[in-house]
Amino acid sequence: MNKIKMTTPLVEMDGDEMTRILWKMIKDELILPFVDLKSEYYDLGLPEREKTKDKVTFDSAYATQKYGVAVKCATITPNKQRVEEYNLTEMWKSPNGTIRAILDGTVFRAPIIIDSIKPVVKNWKKPITIARHAYGDVYKASEFRIEGEGKAEIVFTDKDGKETRETIYDFECPGVLQGQYNKDTSIRSFAHSCFKYAIDTKQDLWFSTKDTISKKYDQTFKLIFQEIYENEYKAKFEELGIEYFYTLIDDAVARVIRSEGGYIWACKNYDGDVMSDMVSTAFGSLAMMTSVLVSPDGKYEYEAAHGTVTRHYYKYLKGEETSTNPMATIFAWSGALRKRGEMDGLNDLVDFANKLEAACIKTLDDGIMTKDLVGLVSEGFKATAVNSADFIKAIRERLESALA
Ligand code: NAP
Ligand code: MG
Repeated sequence: MNKIKMTTPLVEMDGDEMTRILWKMIKDELILPFVDLKSEYYDLGLPEREKTKDKVTFDSAYATQKYGVAVKCATITPNKQRVEEYNLTEMWKSPNGTIRAILDGTVFRAPIIIDSIKPVVKNWKKPITIARHAYGDVYKASEFRIEGEGKAEIVFTDKDGKETRETIYDFECPGVLQGQYNKDTSIRSFAHSCFKYAIDTKQDLWFSTKDTISKKYDQTFKLIFQEIYENEYKAKFEELGIEYFYTLIDDAVARVIRSEGGYIWACKNYDGDVMSDMVSTAFGSLAMMTSVLVSPDGKYEYEAAHGTVTRHYYKYLKGEETSTNPMATIFAWSGALRKRGEMDGLNDLVDFANKLEAACIKTLDDGIMTKDLVGLVSEGFKATAVNSADFIKAIRERLESALA
């Protein structure tokens, strides 16, 4: 069989633990036999990050800026225990944080849906994609406890030394205080990424904040989105027949629950943190959640939403069989290959990505699953648990017949 050709390299970011094992299996069984893979490989596994003093992470992000599409394996974010385990000279920062900061991107998370696993919310029929503004607000807040009576003020000193101040509260008793911020530049990037992704995936975009209460802060988000939409994206949205829709977060929550899905829900940082866990749990499993980082200038980095599945890795190291779900990691590959194909006008590559995803869904529809999914299957559907290798083999068989 002739392998499918590529023209521009894909940025490949390898990772850690169980997902690193899956990464190789996916490449060997599902990609390399069919695609003449052109990739620029970066090993973001923790030993290599230590060896390069984390330079490899930065380089991989710059390569993504250069080529436009990356696929990333899950990576360990070091904590104290990992520093000891891997004998690190420093507690290296989260690779995802580093890459996100360089690409200035927004993360979009969407579930992979199959017939036999019904969402907890019965009327959800299509995926709901959450776009979380991963910058600022309460995540960058300064806060302290007030131990007694006194006046709390908020002060801004401009670059000429001029002060603007406002009383927050005259405390008559102990309490708590918090100051948070965001930047127009970051909100604008967030908005551009959301509008671009909506156009890209031809889905409606919802955006919600609490601007009735937060009349300057949340209002700024609302106005920036509105202005960018009117000036830069409205015509394209109308042409595609998709909608941009702003509403209060309370109203959004009610509408989301009553909806059948099939749209992107853009959320401020905290809302996105909370709502993405709610939505992913209601859809079934973290192992079925895909994730893509989209920069405001249209660069894409695809990955799984889950971590390195450490518990399974330790079992694997002891020689025990594991049934780790590779779906989200396979979909990271198919997403990246499809995007590469679209950007380079390679129809065969796009077609391959579609067939790979279809083969995965068919395998699950045939009742062949990893252990984590078997327990979620609705009554009336059959399901047999297999190990990761057999699951990938079953996908390969279906992929081969689809490509034949
Ligand atoms: P995790 O790797 O997502 O795994 C948590 C648990 O969820 C697993 O023990 C497993 O449950 C289940 N699970 C997750 N993915 C699964 C899959 N594909 N198939 C089957 N079960 C799956 O989270 P963690 O254990 O909290 O974190 C492990 C490491 O990952 C940490 O070092 C963390 O820094 C890193 N991490 C990286 C990323 C990223 O790179 N994007 C994201 C999150 C975490 P059972 O054990 O019950 O089977
Ligand atoms: Mg969370």
